Amino acid sequence: MNPEVEDDDQKHADWQAPETGQTQDQAEKPTFRELLFKYVGGDIHVHREQPPRLGADGYPRKRRESDYSLKELDGYAQKIDGGTGRLQFLVMADHAVPEEEKLLARQGEVNRFNAGKGEAGPRIIGAVETDIVGDQGEVNVSQEVLRKMDFAIASFHQTPEKFSPEQLTTIYRGAMANADIDCLGHPSRDIGAETLSKMDWDAILQTAASTHTAIELDTWAPLPDWLIKKAVDYKVPIMIGTDFHNLRRYRNLPEEKGMPKLTDAEEQAFKVVPDEDRREELDRRLEHGPGVRFWRQFAPILETLYKAGAKPEQIISSSRERLDNWLSREKAERRLNG
Ligand SMILES: [Zn+2]
Ligand SMILES: [Zn+2]
Repeated sequence: MNPEVEDDDQKHADWQAPETGQTQDQAEKPTFRELLFKYVGGDIHVHREQPPRLGADGYPRKRRESDYSLKELDGYAQKIDGGTGRLQFLVMADHAVPEEEKLLARQGEVNRFNAGKGEAGPRIIGAVETDIVGDQGEVNVSQEVLRKMDFAIASFHQTPEKFSPEQLTTIYRGAMANADIDCLGHPSRDIGAETLSKMDWDAILQTAASTHTAIELDTWAPLPDWLIKKAVDYKVPIMIGTDFHNLRRYRNLPEEKGMPKLTDAEEQAFKVVPDEDRREELDRRLEHGPGVRFWRQFAPILETLYKAGAKPEQIISSSRERLDNWLSREKAERRLNG
């Protein structure tokens, strides 16, 4: 799925709460804002300024990972939060790079940034999004480095069609058995519905539960409803991330239960411009401040969680305190057992 072209206005139009004529069922349904405050305390999967990754051919891939520095992201996040205290943390998940010392340097940069900024605004958490590269779920970052990062995601970025459902099951279970991996990133991304349905999710979710590895609900590559429900039923740790690579989509909290359309000024501020004017576009967006539409991408996931009866305690990313506790306690326990 390409985040740049997907129209989230269309996709979530049915979530707009009706002003009148509610049925009993609709009247009891929490508003989007209530669900957001119940299940979302921050974002466990954000990318930031980083040189382009190298493709398999050794040449840089076209897309930049993100367009903003830590300071810019922090300032922007504070504007998005609007004093609600909802955006309590941002996990800055750098893609793995061959030079591991760069990952450590970026973790160091996060540590210094947090030390310098005090308690205001979201906590920035240093992280790496590793690639799952081996057929037993091995990742492309060494244990030595993973242990020095605050947070580690393992994501499958290969072409899933090349793998059978059985192989994918083995790969995911292997990645989660790695005691230094905290979260399985976007588990359904690029996997066709049929392959997904044939994978052994009972085994995968049992492994998630026994290894204390979280399953990511990624708003850009959401799990199907049946799988979210299954994860809730298995009581596995769940984390919610946007995987955003650009602040274009990262906007204000909705004030109303039926979220308003962007104003003309906002539309203008978030308009995509050709590459040569990129810096200007980004500056303008920072200056303008956030709009409201970003949070809509959470709507389907949050509604499914609500319908599945998920408790906020199961959603590890529903508060900073919960995430902090989980990261310290679960990491220690995993490493003892692993
Ligand atoms: Zn990824
Ligand atoms: Zn990512």
